[in-house]
Amino acid sequence: MSALEHYAYCHRQTALIHVEQVWDESAETVRGDLSHTAVDLPGVTRRAGVTVVRSLPVGSETYGLRGVCDVVEFTGQVATPVEYKVGRYQAGGPAELQLGGQALCLIGAGFEVPLGYIYSVAERRRHPVTIDDTLIEQVIEAAGAVRRIFGTSKLPLARNDKRCRRCSLRDACLPEATDGHSRPLLDLFTPRPLGTWRD
Ligand code: SF4
Repeated sequence: MSALEHYAYCHRQTALIHVEQVWDESAETVRGDLSHTAVDLPGVTRRAGVTVVRSLPVGSETYGLRGVCDVVEFTGQVATPVEYKVGRYQAGGPAELQLGGQALCLIGAGFEVPLGYIYSVAERRRHPVTIDDTLIEQVIEAAGAVRRIFGTSKLPLARNDKRCRRCSLRDACLPEATDGHSRPLLDLFTPRPLGTWRD
């Protein structure tokens, strides 16, 4: 499921992490892990007619998805997934595709999922995300594209734009050399000012 978020951020990142098994930590990834400490502990609590399940495994054979929901709140047949993110909420951002993937699995399990939330640890608040047909179609399309990436040995080209600034895989990816643009070889050995990005 996390591959959906990686895919929405950068196709090459998806392949590096899930095909090449490349992973590097950064302050942001460590902060992300720490912010998940509470929800990574499986458990069930009940309050006022709502059953809250932490760290719930979900999957869909139909769409080839599997993953773990941080939190799902169940009220009767209605399930509401809540995905924890360390950074600030970005409307329409990559996390929504991951949330949509969770919703698709829960729908496949027989629940109604009209709404989900992205909980921003930085903002200490949750942001509602409508689970509509558009989001579900985007998830299905992305799941197919991710499977195609998994099935090929060719890495997608690097984006080499502002996203790379925050990417912990930058040293392994070498976006300046792998973005498909030819440039004089010497350029690759000249440190680039941090402010100069092709975006
Ligand atoms: S450094 Fe840039 S191109 Fe490479 S994986 Fe990260 S975001 Fe993608």
